[in-house]
Amino acid sequence: MGFWKHNMPGKMLLRSRHEASNIAAPRKHLSLEAYQTTIRRRLNEPLPIEDFIAYGEWFHKQVVPRLDTRNVRNVAPTGGGFEIAFEDGEKLHAESVVLALGIGLFAQRPEQFAGIPRVLASHSSEFSNLTQFRGKRVAVIGRGQSALEYAAILHESSAEVQILTRSETVNFLPFAWRKHLFRRLTPGPLRPLSWRILPPTDLGDIRTARKMADPVKFRRQSPEVQQALLKDVTTPRGAYWLPSRLQGVPVKAGVSVTSVERAGDALKLTLSDGSTDLVHLAVLATGYRIDISKYHILDDCLKQAIQKTADGYPVLATNLQTSVKGLYMAGVVAERILGPTLRFVTGTSNAGPCLAAALTGKRSTH
Ligand SMILES: Cc1cc2nc3c(=O)[nH]c(=O)nc-3n(C[C@H](O)[C@H](O)[C@H](O)COP(=O)(O)OP(=O)(O)OC[C@H]3O[C@@H](n4cnc5c(N)ncnc54)[C@H](O)[C@@H]3O)c2cc1C
Repeated sequence: MGFWKHNMPGKMLLRSRHEASNIAAPRKHLSLEAYQTTIRRRLNEPLPIEDFIAYGEWFHKQVVPRLDTRNVRNVAPTGGGFEIAFEDGEKLHAESVVLALGIGLFAQRPEQFAGIPRVLASHSSEFSNLTQFRGKRVAVIGRGQSALEYAAILHESSAEVQILTRSETVNFLPFAWRKHLFRRLTPGPLRPLSWRILPPTDLGDIRTARKMADPVKFRRQSPEVQQALLKDVTTPRGAYWLPSRLQGVPVKAGVSVTSVERAGDALKLTLSDGSTDLVHLAVLATGYRIDISKYHILDDCLKQAIQKTADGYPVLATNLQTSVKGLYMAGVVAERILGPTLRFVTGTSNAGPCLAAALTGKRSTH
């Protein structure tokens, strides 16, 4: 849960609904529902990040109670496997390695902000607390969920916040009342059927949801359709519960930041419409670009041996093995092989069984 604890802000709410926020397990005893029964409390929907982190920690204590939380410094090939070096110098040998390093390493910082110190301009993945900017002028750059939600939290924390976006509009997902109604009409024993018709991933609509949820169906699509399905889940849009929280937050649409200068303890932003802005902080909610050459823990010879696509994704087999035998990759970098769920918690139900089958030599259904 490191990324959730240290790289996302308190007061954040999950955009994925409860049914799409389960960490997968072979049996239901580790579901969010089971967690609520254990703690004897109904969790709010949308789910507060603090509750999701507590659920993740409860999950890991039952599954891997002796979790090694040290950072890995290097992974290098040896004769029959890999040598893993920790930051404290200890090394261990493994026959197989699964890299599930998340999205954080791929944060995109616009080049105009190169050389600007982090206290004045940070990527959205560098904040764990947004409530400390009371009275400060803050520019949030971007228009995706992070940009819009972080602007709402800053606004509610009495920062003087504005949103700057290159696009002409800011869009929000409407409340999915059809999905909601469908679930309500299919409770109890009808639920498995309900999930088969409309998978509990919170992704896509009645036409696309099954192609997104099922890796086999996803791979049967043409490359153009696969690309469209992947793009759909990353289209910048805010959750349906954000517009009311953003009332009073100015949005400057259709502008980009053309240059940035330090002005004492503030930043002077020059915008493409010729205007300038003086801010104490710029939040760069400018997204992520996958590029596994940023996996600095991989030894150089491993980096060279791993086959990559021209745009930085690993070439993976359907069991998530890279072109190096015994080295697997999971999470967002595997979205092109298992589909768009791999960007989200719900994707654990695809990646988990697939990796378990590969590592135990059993057959996977994916
Ligand atoms: C702002 C934001 C909001 C999101 N909201 C949602 C949501 O509502 N619902 C949803 O389903 N998904 C959401 N996501 C996506 C979310 O990141 C993924 O669902 C999920 O975290 C992916 O899990 P993961 O294990 O692949 O990566 P992560 O959760 O990022 O985990 C990667 C882990 O690898 C560890 N690590 C990295 N390098 C090393 C190293 N060298 N040594 C040891 N450990 C290392 C990190 O510390 C981290 O713990 C959101 C993402 C962001 C950025």
